[in-house]
Amino acid sequence: MTSEVVSVSSTDNTNLGLLRINGQRLWDSLMELAKIGATPKGGCCRLTLTDLDRQGRDLVIGWGKDAGLAISIDKIGNVFMRRPGRNNALAPIVAGSHIDTQPTGGKFDGNFGVLSALEVVRTLNDHHIETDAPIEVVFWTNEEGSRFVPVMMGSGVFAGIFPLEYAYAATDVDGKTVGDELKKIGYVGSQEPGDHPIGAYFEAHIEQGPILEEKDITIGVVQAVLGIRWYDCVVTGQESHAGPTPMNLRKDAMQVASHIMQEVVAIANRFEHGRGTVGMVQVYPNSRNVVPGTVKFSIDFRNLTDALVDEMDAALTQYVTQLMATTGLDIAITQVSKYQAAPFHPDNKAAVARAADLLGYSRMDIVSGAGHDAVYMSELAPTGMIFIPCKDGISHNEIEYASPEHVTAGANVLLHAMLETARAVA
Ligand SMILES: [Zn+2]
Repeated sequence: MTSEVVSVSSTDNTNLGLLRINGQRLWDSLMELAKIGATPKGGCCRLTLTDLDRQGRDLVIGWGKDAGLAISIDKIGNVFMRRPGRNNALAPIVAGSHIDTQPTGGKFDGNFGVLSALEVVRTLNDHHIETDAPIEVVFWTNEEGSRFVPVMMGSGVFAGIFPLEYAYAATDVDGKTVGDELKKIGYVGSQEPGDHPIGAYFEAHIEQGPILEEKDITIGVVQAVLGIRWYDCVVTGQESHAGPTPMNLRKDAMQVASHIMQEVVAIANRFEHGRGTVGMVQVYPNSRNVVPGTVKFSIDFRNLTDALVDEMDAALTQYVTQLMATTGLDIAITQVSKYQAAPFHPDNKAAVARAADLLGYSRMDIVSGAGHDAVYMSELAPTGMIFIPCKDGISHNEIEYASPEHVTAGANVLLHAMLETARAVA
């Protein structure tokens, strides 16, 4: 830190622009947290509501207390750490993410969002900077959904997407429940989930995709999280012997299914942000010399808005209706899940873009194909996300990596976006 930055004052906009987070301190904290649940391949396995999760929570809360933050915990174990503002009647400007990981997870997914928010607070403390609105660091329970479904559980309960009792009853493969495991690690708080105002929400995160790295851009200004629709498709034909059955008399479910699979991808390709994936296929009877009688497969459609996902849905329905008429085979498509698209707030997007420009970082608009806690927060408060590149676009993997330079840049953008927002609400 240069000496002139020390004189930064909250009443002087010129000097405030010089403010920078401490990149080394943030990196050290990320590496320290990653030791809890560290895997031999350099990743992290800190499944939600395990003893390791408790240790991670304790460590981050300890850091929060060292930074003078007031801790509150709600009944689903979401943790809020508050730095008061000049006007504490204002709703806080909140930033965070999650600290649970996948079984073969990395050091950055989620953890970067929480610790960069903590680093924002530490930086404001270093320079004795006050904000009008309070600032809060949050980490949400069970974002990953790997041990317990649904994913984004803590933020979902907080936003009223599903009830607390429903979340408590979720079980892992051993039959243990969220309610019992939360109690066991000592993180059942007293606050009613959602009974906690949020003035605005920011989440910094690794991109989890290859775009920023490929284009050599430092900051992604996230426009939206794509809407998701999941379907099961069943094609029913007739099993018969692969030899004696002439081609023109077959009811080959696999051949018809393969046409639909191609169409899923073709439909997605018609849209700028469309995604179409068939990831799971079951063929019956799955025998080399039998014409398949039944094929079941999954369809995953994503797009920028719910209306665009509706268009993909309609295109598929039209195609399948025609295909049934021409082939005579039965095709059933059932929707199994739906996650609404989350367009982010213009004010948050503008604050992130302005912060990147102020700091001289390259930036681009980007969309998120993966879900985040910010999706549910966007239903409650103006919300935005900041993406930084990750190596080869890989996440949910022990080799997940973001460079110290990008980690620092993302946290600096978070700092200035929050600072602008926390002052603007006065
Ligand atoms: Zn994440």
